[in-house]
Amino acid sequence: MSRLLREERLGRTALLTQNLAPGKRVYNEDLVRRGGAEYRTWDPFRSKLAAAIIKGLPDTVVAEGTKVLYLGASTGTTVSHVSDLVGPGGMVIGVEFSPRVAREFVERVARERKNVIPYVADARDPSKYSVARVDLVYCDIAQPDQTEIAIANCMAMLKPGGTLLLVVKARSIDVLKDPEKVFKDEKGKLEGKGFEVLKVLELSPFEKDHALIHAVAPR
Ligand code: SAM
Repeated sequence: MSRLLREERLGRTALLTQNLAPGKRVYNEDLVRRGGAEYRTWDPFRSKLAAAIIKGLPDTVVAEGTKVLYLGASTGTTVSHVSDLVGPGGMVIGVEFSPRVAREFVERVARERKNVIPYVADARDPSKYSVARVDLVYCDIAQPDQTEIAIANCMAMLKPGGTLLLVVKARSIDVLKDPEKVFKDEKGKLEGKGFEVLKVLELSPFEKDHALIHAVAPR
């Protein structure tokens, strides 16, 4: 059975991820049994990655065994689901620069999951946590220069042809600019550095004025 399940409930898609730490909840999500394994419900209103999957990001992008660099781990809500998806053979390097938030991330998520490696660091300096090459960079740091930061991290740690998932919060970049124009400009920055942009997924109704850019790094 897949580590990611989709179920249709009352005309809506619900997502479930196979729990890497059975019996443990991270944020009061439901635990359910499917096909002899335990799964956790994954709320698209609390996770932009879940919202992007419902809006059309292929399920296979965060596959079992994937090595992920996750920038902006926060308290680990989404990291915990990425940890479920990549499973015991994968790895998630979670970077968070607020020590208070990172402490919660370690206590709620990293301590329970052997495939999560936490770093309290600024994503502007990848040399602090550049320990391995990864298959996928996920960036959700809500900073005005986040696209430049994501590119620098891809240069430092992403395999040639690897995947970048970049969350763009239009208001963090320019409160006055039309969000569609912000998404287009950030896409253009990636293309200018040789990335191939496969999709720009707008995340409403789950998140207002947010998009997730799915891109592939130069080979
Ligand atoms: N991705 C998280 C989730 O879905 O559960 C939410 C991330 S939240 C929008 C952004 C996080 O990025 C905050 O916790 C913030 O402290 C962190 N952050 C912002 N700038 C950063 C930087 N330069 N380096 C590392 N973390 C940063």
